[in-house]
Amino acid sequence: MIPVIERIRQSLVSLHMARALETLDHTLSRLEKGEINAIEAIDELLAEELNLREGRRIGVALRTARLMPVKTLESFDFSFQPSLDRRRIMALAQLEFIKRAEVLHFLGPPGTGKSHLATAMGVAAVKAGRSVYRCSLAELIEALTKAEREGRLAEKIRFYARASLLIVDEIGYLPITSGGANLFFQLVNARYEKGAMNLTSNRGFAEWGEIFGDPIVATALLDRLLHHAVVVQIEGASYRLRHHADLIPEHTRSHAAITPPPPTKRRGRIPKYGAAHPMSS
Ligand code: ADP
Ligand code: MG
Repeated sequence: MIPVIERIRQSLVSLHMARALETLDHTLSRLEKGEINAIEAIDELLAEELNLREGRRIGVALRTARLMPVKTLESFDFSFQPSLDRRRIMALAQLEFIKRAEVLHFLGPPGTGKSHLATAMGVAAVKAGRSVYRCSLAELIEALTKAEREGRLAEKIRFYARASLLIVDEIGYLPITSGGANLFFQLVNARYEKGAMNLTSNRGFAEWGEIFGDPIVATALLDRLLHHAVVVQIEGASYRLRHHADLIPEHTRSHAAITPPPPTKRRGRIPKYGAAHPMSS
């Protein structure tokens, strides 16, 4: 007859519980020394295995979501950006906005931490077991344009509509053709009231007509993107340039508030996070 320990070992191999197998000897020796009881030994083995698997799942999910290099709220220096309400950001990181399929906007000049915060939201969502995908607006439109050319647009829109959180970074850095704006609109429409988005932009909503090369499409986009929306505006200096402020000419230092959005047809629901109006920070 096979001794019990040997049978446990074989079972762990058959169950592909490599980490529990690795831990087994250590756990058994603690058990023999009376440091833990049998229940605690079972708990320890399962916890080790689970931790490893959870870590692996998060690693894979972060890569497929394109959230590397990882940024977290813990590594964000809120004291550098006093216009940001730390408690409000922490409340957003509870991810209720994902459940409600809302759109979270981070607005502010370059270097103020928009991409960092958006990535951190994505990382928090991955850890909470949500599916996330991050891309820049330029990458998104390039992929949609290519898919349309190859007759796979519907499939590509389904792909981008699938994640519970879609992060679209860098709206406003590059001008978008009207064809591109149209494709983005189709995607926004596909996600509207179904899936959450986190958008970042260095430009105010009033400038979207210019960014998207078409005021009518821009208005239709904003109509959907501001309907169930939370707007976080960052007004501050660039973290990238924090040691070089003296090298930057005064007129290019951006402290200016971003112009508020034009009125949309629908009235936006009042965001739940602290500030009562989507335009306030
Ligand atoms: P933006 O997207 O607004 O242009 P980023 O989020 O890319 O800015 O920030 C630029 C760099 O500075 C990144 O490496 C980011 O991690 C870092 N950074 C920005 N703000 C902070 C901050 N308040 N605390 C720590 N790191 C920051
Ligand atoms: Mg950025």
